[in-house]
Amino acid sequence: MAEHFVFVTGGVMSSLGKGIVTAVTSALLEDMGFSVNVIKLDPYINVDAGTMNPFQHGEVYVTDDGAETDLDLGHYERFLTITMTKANNVTTGKIYYAVIQKERRGDYLGSTVQVIPHITDEIKSRIKAVGEGKDVVVVEIGGTVGDIESLPFLEAIRQMKKEAKTCYIHTTYIPVLESTSGELKTKPTQHSVMKLREIGIQPDIIICRTEKILPPDVKKKISLYCDVDEEAVISDPDIQDIYELPFIFKKQGLHKIISMKLFGTEPIEMFNMKPREPKLEKWQKIMYKIRNSKDIVKIAIVGKYTTQTDSYLSLKEAVKHGGIANEVKTDIFLISSENFENNGESVKVLREYDAVIIAGGFGSRGIEGKINAIRFCRENNIPILGICLGMQLMVVEFSRNVCGLHGAHSTEFNSSTNYPVVDLLEEQKRISNLGGTMRLGAWKVKIKEGTLASRIYGAEEIYERHRHRYEISPKYIPFLTSKGMVFSGFSYIGDFVVPEMAEIPTHTFFLGVQFHPEFKSKPFDPHPIFSYLVAKALETKKNREMFV
Ligand code: GLN
Repeated sequence: MAEHFVFVTGGVMSSLGKGIVTAVTSALLEDMGFSVNVIKLDPYINVDAGTMNPFQHGEVYVTDDGAETDLDLGHYERFLTITMTKANNVTTGKIYYAVIQKERRGDYLGSTVQVIPHITDEIKSRIKAVGEGKDVVVVEIGGTVGDIESLPFLEAIRQMKKEAKTCYIHTTYIPVLESTSGELKTKPTQHSVMKLREIGIQPDIIICRTEKILPPDVKKKISLYCDVDEEAVISDPDIQDIYELPFIFKKQGLHKIISMKLFGTEPIEMFNMKPREPKLEKWQKIMYKIRNSKDIVKIAIVGKYTTQTDSYLSLKEAVKHGGIANEVKTDIFLISSENFENNGESVKVLREYDAVIIAGGFGSRGIEGKINAIRFCRENNIPILGICLGMQLMVVEFSRNVCGLHGAHSTEFNSSTNYPVVDLLEEQKRISNLGGTMRLGAWKVKIKEGTLASRIYGAEEIYERHRHRYEISPKYIPFLTSKGMVFSGFSYIGDFVVPEMAEIPTHTFFLGVQFHPEFKSKPFDPHPIFSYLVAKALETKKNREMFV
């Protein structure tokens, strides 16, 4: 079991980038030579994030083992070398569910079941479980200190001070008051630390979101009022690229303070000694490529949840990674598919982009708009990638407009269509509970030789993550194939062989994928689909410029 724990709490307000702070802190620890695991504790009562609306909560992130989790797990996977599982995201709902089941089974032998110790013990056991075989566990506590919901989690991490070596990081916000000539205000931080102390936690490190690096006098003030060392007040300034953050934290010595606290020693320069001074080589390579990027491509993401910027978080990151792979800057635009619903003209704006992505999603809003966008890109040879629902609608559009199957649809949106080209598998139709029929997590996909898919992957078999109920109906494959659509990837679900990838070889880049490649892309290991897409976008842009 790990004996070293770093806890990251949040104060003042939400959306300060606590997940990124956690990911970067963990990345520094990895770079110091430690094996690290990360766990996110979410105070909400949902058992998992699967039922949560992206409009409210941002993207639902999916792991290899099929957990529907908080989007912060995406940051952890992108910044670290580890793979997340169901165990890496615990919610209040999950904890209470487990405790109540134990109570019903009689595991508590007649005792009164209480928040302390039963709920807190359950929380601690989850934290310790992810530390199996690891040097350090980094624990991010969702929500803001002072919320009713997070109290049992904070009590659990407070108790751990007596059981292990601990380091408490509190993230806060330093607002600038323009009316007093740009004064940096530390009071919200002081109050949030007071709240934390009220429940018995004294932070070791305070990380402050600010516009700029904090001046020494502000650090001094926070140090005095909040009882932390001056060098343990770390600035988390506004930056252009989140991949700069490991350097900014390293420069301020965050890794040294954590190392001293957990191991009683500073990192050493000598290679391969633990803890070693982080070199951040991987990150240097990325930043070099980002800074070296000269060309810019414009990529449109056509989706439904476009008002919440976090709804397509992994997708936007994956596009950026495709840019890093090509040393090209990517300008990403979220466009609501509802814009394209009725007006035949409006879809023409897509001509201004070098590539278009049709995002996944649920529910009928904006569906016809997505279909119009697909048609426009197909007919105008604009590179287009359809993800999950995006792929399903590519097949619908092709069926309607190329194959003449008028009214073809997915039975998700029209259960009585004459041409159900996207449908539930027979097996799924027998199960009425919707949740039970979702195909989740990593599935093997076999790739057909000589296709765009095989050029992209250079492999015969791949594993990609899924989150959907409907499938391209296998019954239509021969007909659609005869009309020019190539199904280039398949997976096997029981007796069924279902299409996973669809393409049109005569088009510059027309690819639909039933899975979510964005969940497996990392900045230092860009997903080949996004690398290929950005390369195609650049080619399209250059061709267009040649003809102007
Ligand atoms: N709504 C579609 C389905 O359930 C697609 C889901 C998605 O895009 N993730 O099959």
